[in-house]
Amino acid sequence: MRVATYASHSALQILKGAKDEGFETVAFGPSRVKPLYTKYFPVADHFIEGAYPEEELLELEAVVIPTGSFVAHIGVELVEKMRVPYYGNKAVLRWESDRSLERQWLEKAGLRLPRIYEDPDEIDGPVIVKPFGARGGRGYFLASSPEDFWKKAERLGVRKKEDLSKVQIQEYVIGVPVYPHYFYSKLNGKLELMSVDRRYESNADAIGRIPAREQAELGITTDYTVIGNIPVVLRESLLMDILETGERVVKAAEELMGGLWGPFCLEGVFTPDMEFVVFEISARIVAGTNPFVHGSPYTWLKYDFPVSTGRRIAMELKQGLEEDRLEKILT
Ligand code: ATP
Repeated sequence: MRVATYASHSALQILKGAKDEGFETVAFGPSRVKPLYTKYFPVADHFIEGAYPEEELLELEAVVIPTGSFVAHIGVELVEKMRVPYYGNKAVLRWESDRSLERQWLEKAGLRLPRIYEDPDEIDGPVIVKPFGARGGRGYFLASSPEDFWKKAERLGVRKKEDLSKVQIQEYVIGVPVYPHYFYSKLNGKLELMSVDRRYESNADAIGRIPAREQAELGITTDYTVIGNIPVVLRESLLMDILETGERVVKAAEELMGGLWGPFCLEGVFTPDMEFVVFEISARIVAGTNPFVHGSPYTWLKYDFPVSTGRRIAMELKQGLEEDRLEKILT
């Protein structure tokens, strides 16, 4: 068996972790990035050109570790049909890619979610407006009243209530962004906290560098294009909350979709009242785990060798092989 992933996102970490656990590794993707994975950072033993070279992967007896880039490049439908073994539960993809199913799942887990406004005329506080299908926060805008909403929504072609299916209007929660990364071991029935990050976003993180008066003069709108990730260590009294929240998400997934296993991440903000408000779940490894190639403060508390999320995935695969239980974690 070989460990394979799409050459982007968190592939360096995944393949390094797999090598550390003794696996041979495979990266696949556009030929331009081959040197990244074979020369500058030699983590891939094989590099295959292509978005999803199924026959070659089958020949190499590869297991694919999904990332956000892999799913985005080949699409949910093809992922559901792929013949190469996939680490994780594919049933989760539908729940995650549909905003109302995702909300149902997180509500069942008892999470505090931002309020959704169905009717913009009810806006009575700050809101963030998200066009459906937007990536990286492109086209998001903030509004504070119905008038403000209708004025700003015009540039998205939203002029009347019938156009509202193009956008989601969420309560804008004031707080600091925090993204905890979890790993649920299906083989051991245990949840682990792997690490925590916040994103470094352009231009959201640039606006604070410009004085307020000039911000107003420049008429800047906010974008949330992720440029990198910054490690966060949480106040210790928040850890129990974060762990219990993760446990409830796993439990709800068991009831709704046959389980969630492997890495996942909750994306939210912590308010000044220390409440964690979640606006999204990523049901696979997130790039926010990349600062922790050599382990995180949390994995170091549990293991006495450096464990990244990528390596933790490989440890689970190795255990599955040794105990002859791989079929429990591959779909
Ligand atoms: P993805 O994680 O799928 O790439 P995205 O980056 O396109 O999503 P979101 O994660 O929805 O977009 O949001 C982008 C940014 O906007 C986040 O960094 C977050 O800090 C902020 N944000 C999103 N929703 C809210 C909210 N309800 N309240 C406050 N801030 C929010």
